[in-house]
Amino acid sequence: MSLLSLSRNELKELLSDQPKYRIDQIWKGVYEQHLRPSEITTLPKQLREQLGQDPRFNLQGEEVEVLQADGGKTIKTLTRFSDGREVESVLMRYESRVTLCVSSQAGCAMGCVFCATGQAGFFRHLSADEILEQVFLAARRAKDLYDSRLSNLVFMGMGEPLANYDNVIEAVAKINFEFSIAARHITVSTVGIVPGILKLAENPMQISLAVSLHAANDELRTRLVPINARYPLDDLVASLDAYRERSNRRISFEWAMMADINDHDSDAFELAEIAKRVKAHVNLIPLNPTPLFPTPGTELDRVYEFRDLLVDSGVNATVRMTRGNQIAAACGQLSTQVKVRRSSRGEDKDLQAT
Ligand code: SF4
Repeated sequence: MSLLSLSRNELKELLSDQPKYRIDQIWKGVYEQHLRPSEITTLPKQLREQLGQDPRFNLQGEEVEVLQADGGKTIKTLTRFSDGREVESVLMRYESRVTLCVSSQAGCAMGCVFCATGQAGFFRHLSADEILEQVFLAARRAKDLYDSRLSNLVFMGMGEPLANYDNVIEAVAKINFEFSIAARHITVSTVGIVPGILKLAENPMQISLAVSLHAANDELRTRLVPINARYPLDDLVASLDAYRERSNRRISFEWAMMADINDHDSDAFELAEIAKRVKAHVNLIPLNPTPLFPTPGTELDRVYEFRDLLVDSGVNATVRMTRGNQIAAACGQLSTQVKVRRSSRGEDKDLQAT
């Protein structure tokens, strides 16, 4: 049990000797001001000290690396939990919003060949409160650094969110109700876990769905995204049809552009066909190369040509630039770099991927 896993009733029970308004002060302090209970100055000093020493009123994770890029507009953190597992989160400040890219698992079992997290393997699911701790720490940083509230959240960090469905949905509900981030500003990204998409279609929260497609024919997609062998494109597209029908919510496709792999005209036409069928918006992102997949991202001129092919075929498409290249911005890269650094110092020997 830790601070963000507590419901308001559980907090009340644990502090049954305190008046009701103290519980309100703590709840407001944590979820509106993003303070640890020991930092809430409206509480008496003795109570603050007592709460500060009790793990049930504290976070279980601690930030062990914090890197900045883009003049402080991109901040990547590595959070370590009590068992030593570490996950990445990226805070990004834009003109009109502050977005957090959050992790849902320590590692990932999906094995996408171009992804540093996939290359490192799967360790475990994150609990709902471990997901919430990333949000708490980022909301606190957005307030301190940008004098702004955290407005958007994308589950595009380490892990496949729909493989950890229950914990992700539990966290999303609290992010929505307690951190006051609108559900439509929360995007769950999947590599194409069909049963998870169908389950999400039944969920009443207006969460956005992004599908990391990267290829629009089974041969190439299975090569890049091995889970495609279990959920091939026909099944995936049928689940997206069902998702749209049930939820009436918008879908987006993520397409990491890899030089001479998925950036041919034929790729654009195949993608356009699927995108039009499920009315998806396409985001094109030049790939960040990783040590085991050194293919460079598509040159920018070609990315725009590819976008134009999609637009001419009747698809809404946007080119998105990766943030923070100088701080290993792509998912799993910071964690990998830190591990390499530590292992060269003889640390981290007990943490191996499964
Ligand atoms: S791209 Fe996403 S789903 Fe694929 S291995 Fe990386 S973290 Fe997992």
